[in-house]
Amino acid sequence: MRLLEERILKEGRAVSEDILRVDTFINHQVDPELMEKCARDFASHFKGMGITKVVTIESSGIAPALMTASEMGIPLVILKKQPSKALNDNLYQAMVTSFTKGTNYELTLSKDVISENDHVLLIDDFLANGEAATAAVRLLRMAHATVAGVGILIEKAFQPGREKLTDAGFEVYSLARIESMSKDNITFA
Ligand code: 5GP
Repeated sequence: MRLLEERILKEGRAVSEDILRVDTFINHQVDPELMEKCARDFASHFKGMGITKVVTIESSGIAPALMTASEMGIPLVILKKQPSKALNDNLYQAMVTSFTKGTNYELTLSKDVISENDHVLLIDDFLANGEAATAAVRLLRMAHATVAGVGILIEKAFQPGREKLTDAGFEVYSLARIESMSKDNITFA
């Protein structure tokens, strides 16, 4: 998506060869107009697939996912991050290693909000190693829900996330795909 690529070039900051900061329009501040346009793109791409819910991972996935859910007229389900295993029968849990923080957390899904009748669109801000998205898929499988596809704002195509997801049989649709980056240069695939 040209608009998102232009914004990344204008305001994105590659703090290393593998971490991009997009604090001014996605992470610390959100541009609702841009998110709405991204959501329209996701909604149009995944139209007619019988999707019943959008699922995202807190917290940076919420803005694009909520806009997408609104565009599609379906609910948004949020997978929450918890520092350690919570003793709660009402949750499905899966361990994730955070790409940006290097720490582990439990991703949790409330059993009350997903069932075997759900066909889900997974939305997140970034795709890097695919840890978060594959854990989300594991949780959805525990609930016997099915996954229609994965929508990503910014994919770092030089990292293995896409391959992991496509190897597992999921379609990945990214609005911006970064081929390589350094402090002075960002190249799109
Ligand atoms: P993965 O699980 O695919 O390795 O990483 C995806 C998650 O890590 C995303 O939910 C996102 O929050 C975070 N992330 C990964 N790479 C970046 C990055 O370059 N910049 C930012 N801001 N977040 C990232």
